[in-house]
Amino acid sequence: MDDCIFCKLVKREIPAKIAYEDDQVIAFHDIDPKAPIHLLVIPKRHITTLNDLEEGDAALVGRLQVTAAKLAKELGFAEAGYRVVMNCNEDAGQTVWHIHMHLLAGRSLTWPPG
Ligand code: AMP
Ligand code: ZN
Repeated sequence: MDDCIFCKLVKREIPAKIAYEDDQVIAFHDIDPKAPIHLLVIPKRHITTLNDLEEGDAALVGRLQVTAAKLAKELGFAEAGYRVVMNCNEDAGQTVWHIHMHLLAGRSLTWPPG
């Protein structure tokens, strides 16, 4: 997707503070953090919303979660706790149209979300 900001980030056409990368997934720090630690874990392949996932994407989505859990351990907040969130469409507040898993940590997070 030529006009997708996260596809551009994957291609290094825009800068990012990258925390992890492999052949399928990349994780980077959110540009406007909502917690002391706020990373985004995304598939390198463009998928617009969670509604566009297909059966064959199950392993890829699992990889996002496994990556988030690994980062939590490596960055030292796994035991204190963290939250992962994926927003889908307007009611959830999705603003970037390439699926992404938020990984939030570093403070006590309220529940339920707003
Ligand atoms: P959502 O509202 O769930 O679609 O989340 C999109 C997230 O992407 C927001 O938390 C933004 O701050 C973040 N974001 C947008 N542009 C960038 C960028 N260039 N680099 C890092 N994070 C970004
Ligand atoms: Zn994209």
